[in-house]
Amino acid sequence: LDKGGFHAAPDTDYGRESNLVKARQALTIVNNQLGKTYLPLINGEYVQTDEYIDSVNPSTPSQIVGKIGLISLSQADQAMETAKEAFKTWSKTSATQRADILRRAADIMEQKRHELTAWMCFEVGKIVKEGDPEVSEAIDFCRYYASEMERLEQGYNYDVAGENDRYFYQPKGIALIISPWNFPFAIATGMTVAALVAGNCALLKPAATSTVIGAKIAEILTEAGIPKGVFQYIPGKGSVVGDYLVKHPDIHLIAFTGSREVGCKIYADAAILQPKQKHLKKVIAEMGGKNAIIIDESADLDQGVAGVVQSAFGFSGQKCSACSRVIVLNTVYDAFVERLIEAVKSLHVGDAKNPSTKIGPVIDAAAQTRILEYIEKGKEQGTLAIQVEAPEQGYFVPPTVFTDITEDAVIAQEEIFGPVLAVIKADGFDHALAIANGTDYALTGGLYSRTPAHIDRAYKEFEVGNLYINRGITGAIVARQPFGGFKLSGVGSKAGGPDYLLQFLEPRVVTENI
Ligand code: GLU
Repeated sequence: LDKGGFHAAPDTDYGRESNLVKARQALTIVNNQLGKTYLPLINGEYVQTDEYIDSVNPSTPSQIVGKIGLISLSQADQAMETAKEAFKTWSKTSATQRADILRRAADIMEQKRHELTAWMCFEVGKIVKEGDPEVSEAIDFCRYYASEMERLEQGYNYDVAGENDRYFYQPKGIALIISPWNFPFAIATGMTVAALVAGNCALLKPAATSTVIGAKIAEILTEAGIPKGVFQYIPGKGSVVGDYLVKHPDIHLIAFTGSREVGCKIYADAAILQPKQKHLKKVIAEMGGKNAIIIDESADLDQGVAGVVQSAFGFSGQKCSACSRVIVLNTVYDAFVERLIEAVKSLHVGDAKNPSTKIGPVIDAAAQTRILEYIEKGKEQGTLAIQVEAPEQGYFVPPTVFTDITEDAVIAQEEIFGPVLAVIKADGFDHALAIANGTDYALTGGLYSRTPAHIDRAYKEFEVGNLYINRGITGAIVARQPFGGFKLSGVGSKAGGPDYLLQFLEPRVVTENI
């Protein structure tokens, strides 16, 4: 695979004292900047708004991370109009000029790495060790899509004698980016810069709970030299502004990452042809998962336990790639469960900025309530094997493992998006695969095994977009594990992979008789 000389940015080595010092300093710097006001960026100007919301620290909800101005519908119209105007020039800018802005953005992110990580720690409760790889991923998206666009700009040449046939790509138009709070920096950046480098104008509407990080992306792109109107940062209510723009006749494509419920609604709304609309909209929707790891009788159980614990409880299970089901073959079930319980006992839950914290809070009070309700359902449907202590104040949910869960139990079927793991017993490898495939989703999956025949069958039969053998199932890296699923996990091709940018482009052919 030609990656155009792409190399992933290395994560910070926190084994070095000097890096720990930088991380601590960044937390202090950000702490001193909490509570500022952030305004939408429309046509290169920060604009005043009628409505504001507070974005709070989920570890300490009384702490306001930032106040964010929410755009009105008339400001949404203004953003659309100016984007259409900016598109006229931006769409004709060379791929290299556009790519260079992404590369500058990546360099700025590298310089601000520790601060960006600290912002994530305060705004979404991500521990430093999980935030830092997210900065790397955003940098990778910028650099990888920059080189991908330069590759695609070359197009194809299908000439025959007497006839020139040129296959090339042009941008689609105006892209609406609706980004999630769980990877507030990497995913918002990835979807946005993919749209931009392909020559589209992009409107970024981040999730309400991660709007300050959205504002940081706007600051970085501005500093990197994105022309006014080409990129606009438009925080607003999903049910008002998001809904309005999804249905807007001048939107060409929508890149969304978030819940299945919202993704399905966007897909349906975008399909309806609006008055004066002269195209069909493209929807790229990355939705949920109900991801399983299978542990067979030949697995290295210590490795399996470590991979399951990290995949299930990292960032409190709030990743669409997270493991929420572990399917264990009956012959090793008791031994695995015993070790799993021991490992989970050592998870320390607390304030995300505390260096000893392994598991931080969940995003907000609504998530906390929803997850706690699932835990109650789990108690009715299985055995509570272990529940770790969590602080009372803040949006914390105790990491929880249920055993004796049947494959069709609610907590084995519905995406919980929290630190809750269901252990399911399987009667053999066939049964394990059937259980793994028995949900609506197909995002990530894992297998711990030293049996080549099982690994081979998983390759072919485990229905997921990203399958991991003998390792954890989160933390996909750009151009190494391009990421995305199918079934009700989403539509669209893989982020950080060779097909991704094609979704933001319109292919054309010109034939010239000579
Ligand atoms: N790409 C992330 C990973 O591999 C997950 C993205 C998500 O949760 O939306 O862990």
